[in-house]
Amino acid sequence: MQRDDSGTVMDTGRIISRRGVFASGAALGAAAMIAGQRAVLPRAASAGDTPPQPPRHGSALVPMHPRVDQITDLKVCIRPFRAAGPRLDVERIGNKIVFHNYGHGGSGWSLSWGSANLVVGNVAATLNRKVAVIGCGIVGLTAALTAQRAGFDVTIYARDLLPHTRSVRANGSWTPDSRIALTQTAAPGFADQWEQMARFSWATYRTYLGLPGAPIMFEDNYILSDTSFENQHPTPAPSEAPGAMPRVSEDFARYSGRIRDIVPAAEDVPPAENPFAAPHARRRSLMIYNFGAYGHLLLSEFHQAGGRIVIREFHSPHDLTTLPEKVIINCPGYAAREWWRDDSLVPVRGQTAWLPPRPDAPYGLVYRGAALLSKTDGVMIQAFDLDGLGEMTGVGNSLEHPDPAEAARAIGVFADLFARMPAAAG
Ligand SMILES: Cc1cc2nc3c(=O)[nH]c(=O)nc-3n(C[C@H](O)[C@H](O)[C@H](O)COP(=O)(O)OP(=O)(O)OC[C@H]3O[C@@H](n4cnc5c(N)ncnc54)[C@H](O)[C@@H]3O)c2cc1C
Repeated sequence: MQRDDSGTVMDTGRIISRRGVFASGAALGAAAMIAGQRAVLPRAASAGDTPPQPPRHGSALVPMHPRVDQITDLKVCIRPFRAAGPRLDVERIGNKIVFHNYGHGGSGWSLSWGSANLVVGNVAATLNRKVAVIGCGIVGLTAALTAQRAGFDVTIYARDLLPHTRSVRANGSWTPDSRIALTQTAAPGFADQWEQMARFSWATYRTYLGLPGAPIMFEDNYILSDTSFENQHPTPAPSEAPGAMPRVSEDFARYSGRIRDIVPAAEDVPPAENPFAAPHARRRSLMIYNFGAYGHLLLSEFHQAGGRIVIREFHSPHDLTTLPEKVIINCPGYAAREWWRDDSLVPVRGQTAWLPPRPDAPYGLVYRGAALLSKTDGVMIQAFDLDGLGEMTGVGNSLEHPDPAEAARAIGVFADLFARMPAAAG
């Protein structure tokens, strides 16, 4: 049994037949608002094109035929996993009040707004108007924007800005409970806190839909399987006391069931409508993040609201005492393990291969431990579980060197899938 970064369960069985015919088928409420400040609303980064439209169900889908010689980039990222869930507590360093906001595992994009909402709600209680944000990955940038929207005067201090951070080496879709905590190690109230973060994030992301350049959009995502979804491998039991490290996939917490009322459900694709050479298919409408358009939009919003960015590297918590701001939101991601000496962070390596964009084929696939998303900034192919390890894939691995062989295997999954389509399809 496998899960992609979105927690989708699928089987790892072998091909059993050739099928299908292509083309036939609130912590941050009023209390946190400082009077007289203008709310910063999402705006388009640039005028122009209409967002790509997902294909209508049952209409023709264009095959993609991905090839290794089409790779434009290989990106390796480390998920900042903490067994207890993200670090959101407060600490004093000298005369500074440091609000932590890091350790979001494989869910940093998805939970970013909700996490920022919780943290900024606490920051508001300090009654300081000037705030420093450490880090400009997706967690730091959304925290900075959320603080601005609450009326704070914000300066970001970071070694790298969003387009050059680990964040943009992710998959980039709605995966709010991917390696976010361990069921038995998370604090008793964490599930409720997670739900609050997920709901707030979802609502905020919805305000970025339908904009020029499609920073955020929905895409049809097909989950394919060689065996029936009902007859998949039995679920192994979780470990009795996993502590800080997961031992089996089932140790990871699952909370998605709590927000079923707002996230589109997957539906079975009837055999007559299944265009793929895999006998079983499910389709869901998946929210995806187009890193280029979305990142540019967020940085533009931050600057337009008067935010300042200082490029700076910190080497120890003590360095923060030299900042002019008394209140600090700390969003360094996995790097907290190095300079904050936070050993509770466990690296979970992941890699994505990027191929040229395919606006003519706006759909995604999950099959045999690999995932494909067709985004405005490229076709992303990820090997999330080629060896049947489930969510244990990459756990404890902090190597950030690209692995071309891994990329080739993942691309091969889809090349093989499309090659098994009838010739008329290609
Ligand atoms: C393969 C893969 C796929 C993923 N897919 C998804 C997905 O589909 N959906 C999802 O929600 N999540 C996904 N994730 C998880 C997501 O990428 C992370 O949770 C997220 O990027 C964490 O963001 P961050 O801002 O905390 O950290 P980072 O992006 O690492 O940003 C940290 C910031 O802090 C700065 N910084 C760090 N140390 C210092 C220092 N000493 N001095 C100054 N500045 C410093 C950095 O320069 C940077 O600006 C995926 C992860 C991987 C590996």
